[in-house]
Amino acid sequence: MGSNLDQPNMGDIPGVPTLQPGSAAYDEARTVWNAMVDQRPVAIARCRNADDVTGAVRAARAAGCAVSVKGGGHNIAGTAVGNGAVMIDLSAMRSVRVDPGRRIARVEGGATLADLDRAAQVHGLATPAGVVSDTGIGGLTLGGGFGWLSRQHGLTVDNLVSVDMVLADGAQRRASAGELPDLFWALRGGSGNFGVATAFEFRLHPVGPQVLFGPTVFPLDHGHTALRFWADFMATAPRVCTVWADLAHAPAAPFLPENSHGSPVVILMAFWAGEPEEGEVVLAPLRNHPAALGNAVAWRPYVDAQAFLDQTYAKGARNYWNAVNHRTMDDGLIAHLVDLAAHLPSLESDILLCAHGGAIDDIAPTDTAYPHRNVPFMVTPGARWRDPADDTEMIAWVRQAAGLLRAGASPGAYVNFIADREGRGNEAYGPNGDRLAAIKQHYDPENLFRINQNILPQSPSRTTEADTARSIGLTAG
Ligand SMILES: Cc1cc2nc3c(=O)[nH]c(=O)nc-3n(C[C@H](O)[C@H](O)[C@H](O)COP(=O)(O)OP(=O)(O)OC[C@H]3O[C@@H](n4cnc5c(N)ncnc54)[C@H](O)[C@@H]3O)c2cc1C
Repeated sequence: MGSNLDQPNMGDIPGVPTLQPGSAAYDEARTVWNAMVDQRPVAIARCRNADDVTGAVRAARAAGCAVSVKGGGHNIAGTAVGNGAVMIDLSAMRSVRVDPGRRIARVEGGATLADLDRAAQVHGLATPAGVVSDTGIGGLTLGGGFGWLSRQHGLTVDNLVSVDMVLADGAQRRASAGELPDLFWALRGGSGNFGVATAFEFRLHPVGPQVLFGPTVFPLDHGHTALRFWADFMATAPRVCTVWADLAHAPAAPFLPENSHGSPVVILMAFWAGEPEEGEVVLAPLRNHPAALGNAVAWRPYVDAQAFLDQTYAKGARNYWNAVNHRTMDDGLIAHLVDLAAHLPSLESDILLCAHGGAIDDIAPTDTAYPHRNVPFMVTPGARWRDPADDTEMIAWVRQAAGLLRAGASPGAYVNFIADREGRGNEAYGPNGDRLAAIKQHYDPENLFRINQNILPQSPSRTTEADTARSIGLTAG
């Protein structure tokens, strides 16, 4: 991921606040969540509005530079930033406007999950998003987006009403079901390939303000029992209920016996957004499980549940992940998981198991660019460490673990969980790859937006104009 010290100096972008290499502000702005990423843009455009974005896109294009976009800077592969690219920094564009009557939020492209959650919860509303507060709405949404509310209300993209875009030629356009529907389809999972999203509109739903939420922790000696219980529980759980499993080391938390702190455990993190009495009944077998070491499941404000994991996944560590999809959680897979959890490569490493289903599967894999529907389990072995000297060992552990966990897996990987900067696009976009390539050819034929899990523009020589128009939905049949 090194640096490019021979890069040209691009100079300031007319009319747009610009940071140049060599300043402390430049170094701060190019820093992202994953400390492994050390990329040096040729310039950083600190955009204040869509017109600034247009100016930055046109300047980058004129200079022959790629464009990268920094939303929340949370991407594991660090694709907010690229050597020799012009980085469009959206951190000054974080406003959220909620219309409680229409239950719609208008969210600027640089907002974080916390910005959206706080503004929407003032009205008792929310939309499905991720589970760590400072994740960017921009990258999360364009890749698909899932969290505690997704089994009830779908992916983040399933709640997207419109996106205001700055395209590769600098034009400002809106994509929605009725305007540029081909582009709107591609933006719902095709990642940052099609331009800069300066604002999103989302549908909101009544949520909370209190939800029943928190961890129940099992010793790894009972890991098999815990994971079997979890997978069977999720098979019949109502949509308002989501439980994720995390194979990790026990935190030094007061609800756990002191002698368990730091030992390998299974953490079942439960979320309930339905009727309070029913939630107590449904979650009782989990909270009272005889093999559990303890639990901290409690009624909490939704915004606190959304921030519960912030410290665990705080910015600044070195991170490497892999993502594997499974349709079933059979005993063989559970045995592999428990085995791997006994040998996590560092105290902060984990294997996260997200449970999907419910509303996510109400939509077909080709109805949005996000293709991973009907995959109830997403398994993510993740290493997290501090010392660069450990990079090789940590990355090797994740790759080996993923190799083992891939046996019997469904093809594909969630684009937002891919840690390598290049080369897994086919897996991420699956059956939607060809249609995405045609839309890319139409909207970004020069691949200006290539600092991402890149979709190569479909070569015009491979197809006729009519083919392209058909595949992007511009003509019937
Ligand atoms: C600790 C942690 C927890 C996570 N939890 C979840 C989770 O629960 N659910 C989930 O779905 N994902 C989760 N993710 C993954 C998350 O969705 C991705 O990391 C996502 O890329 C973050 O978006 P960002 O805007 O912060 O990223 P950035 O690094 O800023 O950008 C990521 C990519 O998106 C593009 N991009 C960002 N904003 C825009 C924009 N406005 N217009 C155009 N392109 C843009 C960038 O070009 C870049 O390629 C998590 C990640 C982390 C690190």
